[in-house]
Amino acid sequence: MKILAIGRNYTEHIEELGNDQPEEPLIFLKPETALLQKNAPFYYPDFSNNIHFEVEIILRICKQGKYIDKKFAQNYFDAIGVGIDFTARDLQDKAKAKGLPWDLAKGFNGSAPISKFVDKTAFPNIKDLNFSLNLDGEKKQEGNTAMMLFEFEEIISYISKFIMLKSGDIIFTGTPSGVGPIAIGNKLEAFIEHEKLLEVEIK
Ligand code: MG
Repeated sequence: MKILAIGRNYTEHIEELGNDQPEEPLIFLKPETALLQKNAPFYYPDFSNNIHFEVEIILRICKQGKYIDKKFAQNYFDAIGVGIDFTARDLQDKAKAKGLPWDLAKGFNGSAPISKFVDKTAFPNIKDLNFSLNLDGEKKQEGNTAMMLFEFEEIISYISKFIMLKSGDIIFTGTPSGVGPIAIGNKLEAFIEHEKLLEVEIK
């Protein structure tokens, strides 16, 4: 399986990092080894001093496809969840300044904690879904999928032109504003609507 992610998909987050609004989805990958499941703790690595949380809605791909038409894209994912796109912001800033790729800043071990997946039919409207992140009990990020620049179907259609999607692949769909640093001892909690689906302790 593979993990795909979109950057710069919420306007306020683009502004907080001083980036330009993309004309096309900005896509990157994380390796399978980035996954953290079942509320496993995250161990702060020694190569960064500025790891940020980015809470995101994630999609589970359920069908193989390439060149997927936007109007059929909804048939290619069956479940959603919430994940954190941990980002070594110091490494990313360095790479960005030199026009270099983000692989290490985004793909390090444990950089993709995810919740369990929930069948998408369990939600009345996935195009209007609130999600949020608390750090040590304090709300830091709040988003709604209605605010995405590129919606789920567009992301799936776009990626599949370049990279074939396969059953079991996961897509991170972008973070709203409010990203910030984590520290050893913090506890992160991620929610869809009012339900807590993910917990990560930083060790
Ligand atoms: Mg992200």
